[in-house]
Amino acid sequence: MTRPGKMIRLVVETFFKKPATTLYPFKKVEMPANFRGKIIFKPHLCIGCQMCMKDCPSGAIKITKLPNKKFECEISLAKCIYCAQCVDSCPKKALESTKEFELAVLDRKNLKAVFSDDTKETSPE
Ligand code: SF4
Ligand code: SF4
Repeated sequence: MTRPGKMIRLVVETFFKKPATTLYPFKKVEMPANFRGKIIFKPHLCIGCQMCMKDCPSGAIKITKLPNKKFECEISLAKCIYCAQCVDSCPKKALESTKEFELAVLDRKNLKAVFSDDTKETSPE
């Protein structure tokens, strides 16, 4: 058992130490290099093989063929478990994990990312 004198000394020492935890969200947290966050899609690389859809364990990704022979990718950010299986399964490296993890929204229907060309990602308002 800790003696009272030692305990008081510990309390005083701890009081003047910097906190061990990070003051998130006031201070940005840097994710590690291999962090699996939000998935992004690169349409110019996609060949429409749908391997990502077949291998996704939660049915969160949908690839649709567009009239201009390109492909659109829709990811449900609510269903996605951020496992990055789709990234591993894609033979053309058209999908990529990012470090983005702040995905909370007020309305569940906004938890959707649609990528239809290289410069644009749309989400419902
Ligand atoms: S990260 Fe996992 S759950 Fe999310 S879309 Fe890719 S395979 Fe599906
Ligand atoms: S696995 Fe890759 S190339 Fe195939 S449909 Fe999905 S994103 Fe496109």
